[in-house]
Amino acid sequence: MNPGLFIDPPYAMISNQLPANPMQVLLSKLSEEQPELAQLLTTMQQQRQQQTSEAIEPLDAEIHWREQSEQALSELKRAKAVNNRLLRIVDDLKEALEQQANFEDALAMALGACPDCWGESVDCPNCAGRGRPGHFAPNPAQFNRWVLPTLRRHPHLLNGLLTTRRQSN
Ligand SMILES: [Zn+2]
Repeated sequence: MNPGLFIDPPYAMISNQLPANPMQVLLSKLSEEQPELAQLLTTMQQQRQQQTSEAIEPLDAEIHWREQSEQALSELKRAKAVNNRLLRIVDDLKEALEQQANFEDALAMALGACPDCWGESVDCPNCAGRGRPGHFAPNPAQFNRWVLPTLRRHPHLLNGLLTTRRQSN
């Protein structure tokens, strides 16, 4: 491993090639207006330079590289595990959504409603917004499954209803 790789390339380019180091320009400007902040930045910069020069020791560089690789690997494993968990959640949600859609279709058939919009959308290609319950002929099997049990157990729901004026829809 070439220890030279650990020198920050942009910093090296700035100090060698540009007429003025932008950080120094910033610091001299800042020291006029915010001396305390400028001092803090200078200290931080010095610490960083010290760390950089420490990092180019071959043994340290090797250890640094190993630590970085191990850390990256464990982060990758964690990310992969999270990704797998998310994919399983997405699969479960897809399945739940499909079951929900099937149930809604069955209920719409039982009630003779438009399965696409239940009569709620004038743009619906299936019913142009007229497909509220009763608009289509109910599917007998679905009606017997989802509606009839309720009417059998609560026949009073029908009292008077069958003789009222049919609502337009
Ligand atoms: Zn519709």
